[in-house]
Amino acid sequence: MKRNPTFFHKKISLLGSILVLGPVCLLAGCGGQIRSYESADIAMGTVLNQTVYTAGEDETGHIRELVRTLEKEELSFREPDSQVGAVNTYLSREGIFLEDADSAGGGVRVEVSEGLFTELSALYEISRASGGAFDFTLGALTRLWNMDAQAAGEAEVHIPGEEEIARALQNCGWEKVTLEDGHMLFSEKVLLDLGAAGKGIACDRIGDYLRETEVTGAVISVGGSVVTWGEKPDGSPWQVGIVDPETGEGILGTLSLTGEWYISTSGDYERYVEVDGIRYHHILNPENGYPARSGIRSVTVVCHSGLVSDALSTACFVLGREEGEKLAARYGAETVFVDDEGNIYLSEGLEGIFKPKEQP
Ligand code: FAD
Ligand code: MG
Repeated sequence: MKRNPTFFHKKISLLGSILVLGPVCLLAGCGGQIRSYESADIAMGTVLNQTVYTAGEDETGHIRELVRTLEKEELSFREPDSQVGAVNTYLSREGIFLEDADSAGGGVRVEVSEGLFTELSALYEISRASGGAFDFTLGALTRLWNMDAQAAGEAEVHIPGEEEIARALQNCGWEKVTLEDGHMLFSEKVLLDLGAAGKGIACDRIGDYLRETEVTGAVISVGGSVVTWGEKPDGSPWQVGIVDPETGEGILGTLSLTGEWYISTSGDYERYVEVDGIRYHHILNPENGYPARSGIRSVTVVCHSGLVSDALSTACFVLGREEGEKLAARYGAETVFVDDEGNIYLSEGLEGIFKPKEQP
């Protein structure tokens, strides 16, 4: 039995060298010109890495707080007072579907903020378009697997049995939700889990925030989701590495991107345990409730929205290459698939933009 050490090693090594290097002047001997700021923090259960170029003040602290507030007040199911936490608590109340069903016209009605409603509507659409391969209502199933805690060694390794999985799946399903007029309407009990899109949503919110500042360029990663924004002072493209899924550590290649892009990667190397030689990872196939096995080790999605890139990377991992490429194309998104044998497949728009790492 083997636990995945990568996640926490990464955290520790990054924190060990916290990159608050102080500002570095880049132009004209610091005469009010562009400075760069770097930082590494923990947020959303992962590492938030920032490199920000600005003619104004250091924005890295504001961005860290923005991500932490988004987690605490809106997205985290672990925070009982977040909007997602509150929806889940409400839906878990004994008898709620009997008490509230009539007054709500056949379901339980919950109000969410305008911003979250817009994002949930987009996630609903991706759930539908992916045939449920991405599903934002998998909370009962993800909690049963509890893979974040298992992989981190914080919970006993336990591979759920078929009956447990079947029971959890009864409380999952995006079709049990309707979104209308700022409300969510639930025809049956489900639990929300936005873990597969939350870091992408954070990247979108960061992009929106940067537009209000004097920042001229930034590359910021929230775990496996990255936003590139604006320009580097020397005008060269941003370089975004794609992790080699074989080791979960080094990179297998680099995307060379100019301007504002959102990049998310889902892989089976992130959070997993191995039992009797079988890897049980955290990306679940909603059809059978088990970790998805589609012949893919990792998928990277590049597009103009963090939410879409993050949700699609999960959906594409579940669907596999053929169906995944079709789905991504419908969203105008570019993809890098890495299969079980280490073969790399690029969508057309990434030819010349993705460069494989040179072999030593
Ligand atoms: P992705 O592929 O983007 O997402 C996989 C995650 O989405 C799974 O972990 C599961 O939660 C869910 N999921 C699995 N299958 C599907 C599917 N088919 N459709 C939809 N969703 C699916 N981790 C911690 O260890 N501690 C924390 O306190 C913590 N807090 C977090 C708070 C927020 C707001 C967010 C967004 C994440 C947090 N995380 C935390 C991490 C989270 O639990 C997931 O492990 C992480 O988001 C997975 O991201 P990924 O990019 O590796 O994989
Ligand atoms: Mg995702």
